[in-house]
Amino acid sequence: MNQQVLGQSLAQSLGNENFGKKSRFSYRLAQNLSNTLMNGGSLEELQPVNGLHLTPGLNRSAKAAIEPYNPGEPMINMKLVRWLKNSMPIAIWISPGLMLPSVPFDEIPNTRCDLVYQMIKTNPKNPFATLSQAPNWTESTNEQVANGIEQWREFEKEGLFQFGFTDNPADAQVLIFFTDIFKDASGPGGVAAGGITTAKIFPQDKLHLVHKMPVIIELSTVVNCEPEKMQASSAHEFGHALGIKAHSPYREDLMYVDRVVNNLSPADKATIRYLYHTNTDYVMY
Ligand SMILES: [Zn+2]
Repeated sequence: MNQQVLGQSLAQSLGNENFGKKSRFSYRLAQNLSNTLMNGGSLEELQPVNGLHLTPGLNRSAKAAIEPYNPGEPMINMKLVRWLKNSMPIAIWISPGLMLPSVPFDEIPNTRCDLVYQMIKTNPKNPFATLSQAPNWTESTNEQVANGIEQWREFEKEGLFQFGFTDNPADAQVLIFFTDIFKDASGPGGVAAGGITTAKIFPQDKLHLVHKMPVIIELSTVVNCEPEKMQASSAHEFGHALGIKAHSPYREDLMYVDRVVNNLSPADKATIRYLYHTNTDYVMY
């Protein structure tokens, strides 16, 4: 079924995702077009000071604080991507601390969606029997993850989208895994990634040619060792899973690349409203 995948594999990682690598975008032809990218920052903009890893954020006017930033996908000219109404409610499965096989961080965007898809297809009743639990994961970790995702609940009553949690990974559109640390994700400043979201996107007019592909979120139990961090990291990654592909250029937003705030800002809220009030050519499916 792989040749039927017509879409783009995209990944965003939470905060500290600037490892000096430019955004990657590689084309892969498998009968149809399949693209992959890793969303990263550029090291040239970073000023390491006393071991701190600093990324310049833009200063915004008071007016801009309540205006949306552009959530579009940089690799397709900032075109917007979101879920369609008929995908609602988006079903989320939070694994019991499971770790996907460790691969270098760069390889996650290319591989995760297909890997999880195949695992579920091969053994729908117990797809992740071979996976082990991430160090430092506890039951309460999953409460923190769910609490982070709940930050997006308020938009349900506005009719933007709906989501819910499922116990069955085979039913899920968004699956959440864990790791202790991401391999090769440390930069010169000694930073490590807190999370990464990998999704495939599809042209809306080609959905009849494809099968549904899960969105995969992975969260670090080490970088997010405090409950507030896990919760905020989860909220940030779920923002990507909803379709905020580009990061906010502003430090005060949850979707800033080196996230420093823990909650949705007025601009984050304006952005998700803008996204879900717009018809998009590309969708997650
Ligand atoms: Zn991010």
